[in-house]
Parts: sequence; structure tokens; C-alpha cells
Amino acid sequence: MSLRFNAIQNLSTSAEVKVDESPRITSVFGSNVFTLKTAREFLSDEAYKSLQASIKASQKIDRAMANQIANGIRAWAESKGVTHFTHWFQPLTGTTAEKHDSFFTLKSDGTPIEQFEGDALIQQEPDASSFPSGGLRATFEARGYTAWDPSSPAFIMEISGGKTLCIPTIFVSYTGDSLDYKAPLLKATEALNKAAVEVCNYFDKNVSKVNVTLGWEQEYFIIDEAMFNARPDLVMTGRTVYGHTSAKNQQLEDQYFGSIPERVYAYMRDFENEAYKLGIPLRTRHNEVAPGQYECAPIFEDVSVAVDHNSLLMDVMERVARRHSLRVLLHEKPFAGINGSGKHNNWSMATDTGVNLLAPGKTPKTNLMFLTFFVNTIKAVHDYADILRASIASAPNDHRLGANEAPPAIISVFIGQYLSKVLNDVKERVSEKMDETDESMLKIDIHKSIPELLMDNTDRNRTSPFAFTGNKFEFRAVGSSANCSNPMTVLNTIMAETLKQFKKEVDTLIEKGEKKEIAIMHVIRQYIVAGEKVLFEGDGYSDAWAKEAERRGLPNVKTTPLALDAMVTEKAKKLFESNNIYSHSELEARHEIELEKYIKKVQIESRIMGEIATSHILPAAIRYQNLLANNIRGLKEAGITEAGFANQKQILEKISEHINKTSDLVEKMIDARKIANNIDNTRTKAIAYQSQVKDTFFDEIRYHVDKLELLVDDREWYLPKYREMLFLR
Ligand code: ADP
Ligand code: MG
Repeated sequence: MSLRFNAIQNLSTSAEVKVDESPRITSVFGSNVFTLKTAREFLSDEAYKSLQASIKASQKIDRAMANQIANGIRAWAESKGVTHFTHWFQPLTGTTAEKHDSFFTLKSDGTPIEQFEGDALIQQEPDASSFPSGGLRATFEARGYTAWDPSSPAFIMEISGGKTLCIPTIFVSYTGDSLDYKAPLLKATEALNKAAVEVCNYFDKNVSKVNVTLGWEQEYFIIDEAMFNARPDLVMTGRTVYGHTSAKNQQLEDQYFGSIPERVYAYMRDFENEAYKLGIPLRTRHNEVAPGQYECAPIFEDVSVAVDHNSLLMDVMERVARRHSLRVLLHEKPFAGINGSGKHNNWSMATDTGVNLLAPGKTPKTNLMFLTFFVNTIKAVHDYADILRASIASAPNDHRLGANEAPPAIISVFIGQYLSKVLNDVKERVSEKMDETDESMLKIDIHKSIPELLMDNTDRNRTSPFAFTGNKFEFRAVGSSANCSNPMTVLNTIMAETLKQFKKEVDTLIEKGEKKEIAIMHVIRQYIVAGEKVLFEGDGYSDAWAKEAERRGLPNVKTTPLALDAMVTEKAKKLFESNNIYSHSELEARHEIELEKYIKKVQIESRIMGEIATSHILPAAIRYQNLLANNIRGLKEAGITEAGFANQKQILEKISEHINKTSDLVEKMIDARKIANNIDNTRTKAIAYQSQVKDTFFDEIRYHVDKLELLVDDREWYLPKYREMLFLR
């Protein structure tokens, strides 16, 4: 029996996995994390203070204290049954990496002991040669090292009974080039901190630190494991390259409000429990629009920790799914014809005095501070829309962006009616003249209209890639499988740069004798004018918007290879270098890595399409073709006239046509791949894969295969169908 029929049959007998009764969240929350509270218990006063100071200053821990801290961490970990440790990091491959070492070692005289030295805590040298480096390591230094970032606490990962102490690290080369996602994020966050504190000090001298906050919303699909295993395309690429849409799709929208299926519910509770132990503050879970699609979201956190928690959770979700004989699909577009998955990044900045800089204030003065950060964000997105677009570009996200339900590739900002009006007022009330001293213009009474604002917020526009949602911006173009670091690094950097310029311009006016508030208002006005063409309140999915955006001169780059160009323009190099995020060579390397990732992903998809077509689809179709041909021959021999088998003949003709087309197109696609593979320049090769392989063949081959799916005898079809993967539970 085929895997498909096995999968369907076993579905009804597969028992729900028992999940431990959900404990009170507060009683387990963070129990597998070496928090400062735990540190208090396991470290001496001296070591504790040193660790605390490093965390506060975002600095490496003091070498002199390292042994003590490492011993404390080991004592804690061993008390929980941990035997191994690993440096845990986020390489540019997009998954997380770890290499486990045990605490166990032999002393020189052969005595076995368990130890964890300070050096092992602070720094390791993983064999990094197989991680992508875009040529960086080859040109500079053969090896990289991982270094503990104490702002991310150590945690214990439980994997099928075994427990491993994970030390979250950054991954850099010996010349200091970043080889991972985290290192640049930390730099960009620090750049934004600096720039934002300076601007905050116009309003409040007590602000000495600005933290970036991130709350992500993770969308995903769940399917049965046996179904998954029967689909080589899902196994190899995370998405279905073939599959006719089912009779019922998402048109009834009954999934969104429906109850969560039992099996999935058990799975959710299970991974949530794991997440709580790891200190991931999950808060919401619900069905999404597409059948089989769900979402979870935590309470927002400091951006560095939020990024770790998202990477960690994706990993946990995948592991826990297997316990339930389920598979989680984090791909941006696992199924054609229904919604894809995104990862909305809710982003804001908060001061150490407890103010959310993107929350409208309660007084005119705090309003001005809000307006400053709000308008600077818009200007930043306007000025660097191309780089922001590049930050979310990937082969899987290309399938989703601009599909009918996902944000378009055009970066625009939605702010709602009320704030649009505020910006217009400011534009009109603040005159260009420098001698303007009318202070009435400072009275932007946003606080009186909070209800209107909230209304805008609930009535929010779902089609915008970058939307203001009351007290934060929500970057929605990020893909579900992406590491949030990249978009957050770019957002933080462009914001830092814009705030720096803002401060320069305000200071210049103040030096010329302008009052501080008036100077700020003037520059705000200037920024509104400079950035307003990125504002869009209408339907981001419409064709009219694509035309309008073009008229406004907003970039609309639809494919990854071209979108990535924005990473290496003179503008980008200047931006990242002057803010100490990336050197030119690091940018070039990252650009190269992203292109290579793109090429590989399209290449794998193309190969699996060819393989499934020739080894699954065509044999099934030909068997049925034979059946029909024999049937017709038999009828003919029995003296039945042509009219008596006209229908069979018609089906046979159709099938034969789709068989020929499929086979022919697959051959041609292989040739196109060969040509692309011979191209040396990575960018040109990526473009060839996109235009000559993917765009030329994928949809067309799929069209014929999906037609065959409808025509061929169901018993001959070995790939689980959409209705089975999406609706059977
Ligand atoms: P939804 O967008 O689905 O309506 P919410 O608006 O409640 O949901 O929040 C979505 C996400 O935004 C959550 O993860 C939440 O923690 C996060 N969020 C809320 N406030 C902030 C903030 N100031 N900074 C960053 N993220 C935030
Ligand atoms: Mg949201």
C-alpha cells in the first residue's frame, strides 16, 4: 500500500498524545533559565555583581570572574540533571547551531571529573568551516569563535530525556567580522540606544538607556507526520510543489473562528509548557485563516532576547511536533492557493524611565517626544525602504509577498486616519519661517484623542507591510521562517541614523538661537514633508496601489536576487559602516550568502519538482493511460462503435497531453538549470535561477501535474492531496 493510503488509514487510529496537566505557568516559568535570580543562589556576591554589571553594560564578562561564574552555572545545571553543554548560536543558515560537549573530562592522572571552566563559558571554537561565510573566512582567517553574550541568559534544553546547558553566543571571525545574525543585531541595537538617548534628552535628562522591544507573532501550519512523510516535496523543501487546491479551501473562513482541533491543541499545550520552562512568555494562540494554519505570540521583550526566544521556539515547535506525530511547517508558503505564513515583528523603543517612545503621551511635552520618534520612524522607512525590503528577502518569502493575502513587496507605512490628520496639522501650522515663535503650534493635543487613536488601531489596515498599531510599529513583511535579527538590525540601524541626523539638524537650529521646542517642531515638519510619500492608507493588495506607488517613485522589487542589490549600494555601505554595523566586506559577504541561499533553495525545489514528476506523477499517469487505452482497444474489438468510447478517448487524449507536456517541460527545466549552473557570477546565477528556472517552469509544470491529479484514478495517486493534508485530523 502506498504511503498516502497508509497515512490516511492511520490517521483515524493515531491516538492523541497525553500532555501533562498544564501546571500553573508561574510555577514553571523560566525554571530552565539561569536568570539573575538563580544566579543569586548559585554565585558568590562578587561573581553575581560582576555578572550583573556585564549584563547591564552589555559587555563580555570579566575574565577573572569567569571560572566562578562557570562553576555556579554548572552547579545549577547539574542540580537539574544536565551532563552536557554547548555554545548555542544563530548562523546565517537560518537555523540554530550547537555542538555538545560533556562536563566530563579526565585529569592528567586519569581521574574522571566533571568540570566547566571559565574559558569554556566565555569562548569556543566550533568547527565553522561548513557555515556560510560568503568568502569572509577564506579571505581572512580560517576559523571563527563563539562568545557568550551575557545579555542572553544560559538555558537548559531538554531533548528526549537528555538535558543540555546552552550558552547563547555570537559567532565572529578572528578579525572581528560577524558570521551570524546576532552580532550585528547587538551592534545595531546599541547604535539606536545611543542615538535615541541623545534625542530623548531634549525632553528628559533622566533617560540614560533606550531599549528596543520586539514582540513577534509566529504563524505556522500543522500537518500529520505520515502525510508529511509521503510528500517528498515537504520533506525536502518545506512546501508542496504540486497539489491541486481542494474543493473546499479557505473561502468559508470557518477555520479562523473555529475551535482548535484536539490533536493540535494537545501539541500547542505541550510546546507552550516547554516554552514556559525556557522563559519564553507565550501569551496568545489561535487559528489562522487558512485550514491547518495557526499562530502564537509572546509578550514583547528586549529585542535580543526576543530574537533568541523566537529561534528557540521554532526549534522547540519542531521537536515537540514529532512527539505528537505531527509536523510543523514554518515555510512562508507551504500550500498554493491559501494564505501563507508571516512573522509580524512588533517593534518599539522604551526608555529606562519606563516610557514607550511610540506611545502617544499624556501631555503636550510627551506628545512632542512621541511625535519625534514617530516621524523619525516614518522618515527612516522612507529613506531606506529598499534596505528594509532586502532584509526580508528570501526564496520562500518570494512565494508569499505580493500573493493576495500577504503584504506587497512595496514598503509603505500605515498610520491611521487620526495620525495622518495630526501630521497634516503639523505641516500646516508650522511655517517655514525661522522667526516663527508662535507656541500654539506645540499644542498637539494627541492625548485628548486617545479614543480616536484606539479606534484607528482596531480598525487597522491589514494590507500594509509596516503599520502603526497604537503604541508600536508592526513590520509584517517578515517571513515565518526568518530569523527576526536581520529585519531588526536594519530597522534599528536606519532609525539610529535618522535620529542622528535629526539631532544634528535640531542642534543647528538651536545654535542659531531657536528655542528648543520650536527647533524640534521645524525639523519634524521637514521630516514629515521628506517622508510622507511612503505613507499609504489604502488597500495594499490592489493593483491601483502598485501603479500609485510607481508614480510616487517607491521601489517595488518583486524578486529576491534583485531586492538584495540594496544591501550593497553606496548608500547601504555608508549607512552600515558609519554606524559600525557592517564593514564593506561584511556587507558583500552577506549579500553573497543570501544569493547563494536563494540559488540553493530554488535549485532544490526545481530538482524535487523534476524528480516527483518523473518518478511519481508520470508512472501513475501512464498506468492510467494504459488502462484507458486497453479499455478502448477492448471495446473496439468487441465491435463497439467509436461513439461508444468517445469519453474514454477524450480523457485519454487529455491525459496524454498533460503527460507529454510535463515530461517535456521537466527536460527543458533541467537544461535551464544546467545553463544557470555554469554561470560564475553569483548574482547573475541567482537571477537566472529566478527568471529562467523558477519563473519559466515552476507554475507551468505544476499546472499540468495538478490537472493530472484531477484526471488520474485516485488509487493510482501516491501523493497525499491537499484536502487530506489540510482537512483530515
Ligand atoms: P495583534 O497585533 O495580534 O492584535 P497585539 O497588538 O496585542 O496583537 O500585540 C501583538 C504583539 O505586539 C504582541 O507580541 C505584543 O507583546 C507586542 N507588543 C505590544 N506592545 C509592544 C511594544 N511596545 N513593543 C514591542 N512589541 C509590543
Ligand atoms: Mg499584530
